[in-house]
Amino acid sequence: MAGLCGLSLFAATTFADPGSRNTRLEAQRETSSSAGTAVKQPMPVLPNTAATAKDTESQATPQKPAPMDAEVPFLPGEIKTIVIDPGHGGTNAGAIGVAKIYEKTLTLQVAMIVADRLRAKMPDVNIVLTRQRDDALSLTERIQIANQLNADLFVSLHFNSSMNPEAIGYESFWAGDYWIADMEKNGEIIDDETRNARTITAKLGERMAKCFNHAMHRRFDVLDRGVKPGDYTVLTRAKVPSVVLELAFLSHAQEGLAVISQSVRSKLADAVVDAVVKYGNVEYIP
Ligand SMILES: [Zn+2]
Repeated sequence: MAGLCGLSLFAATTFADPGSRNTRLEAQRETSSSAGTAVKQPMPVLPNTAATAKDTESQATPQKPAPMDAEVPFLPGEIKTIVIDPGHGGTNAGAIGVAKIYEKTLTLQVAMIVADRLRAKMPDVNIVLTRQRDDALSLTERIQIANQLNADLFVSLHFNSSMNPEAIGYESFWAGDYWIADMEKNGEIIDDETRNARTITAKLGERMAKCFNHAMHRRFDVLDRGVKPGDYTVLTRAKVPSVVLELAFLSHAQEGLAVISQSVRSKLADAVVDAVVKYGNVEYIP
């Protein structure tokens, strides 16, 4: 996937500051917990509506208006279908690191473990792999599988690479606002219904991304590179909650060799499974 797992990713410093986003999410967390109730279905997002201003004004105690996304719990509904996407495949080999194993091979190995474990843990959920062999699929084809199934979650698995040999750790990407520019570029109309739906699915992607980083943090003593908006086709074209997960740097001397170990790949898969389970648990606030 050109641009996704190479230099541009490591050098991608133009993303919004994760710190400010985390602050907003802390606010969301506090709002949710102080309310004492969890709403099971995501509420529609209506940015800048009169209703929002009115509700704020009608509160007995004047309060500083909170950002819109600080007030809305973005929680998934019942999960019926999950699509796991082993990044790259076929002629698109992805990164190759110090262990001289292609990214496409590693993503498929981890994805197969993830799928098996999810099927065991969630027998009622349909777990779909975008590929089960060394097949080449376009990015559009991958996300179309999830869109056509109306999946409840799309998880694209990748390994990172950088010219900087020190680059290390894991990171995750969600759609942010990049879907807007993508739709505009394609001449698609963004009506209120589309805007609300896409905003909710994007924020649910962010929830999954945060679940993943937390699951990794509990298992690996390595750099957490953050949860970031990413301008990637499998995110911007997603009509369902979607994430790109970068599990480790194949170019790093230690990390790139560690992935040879079956136990490390098993642990990586375990983190993804844990994240999916936590994502679906509306009681869990990542
Ligand atoms: Zn990749």
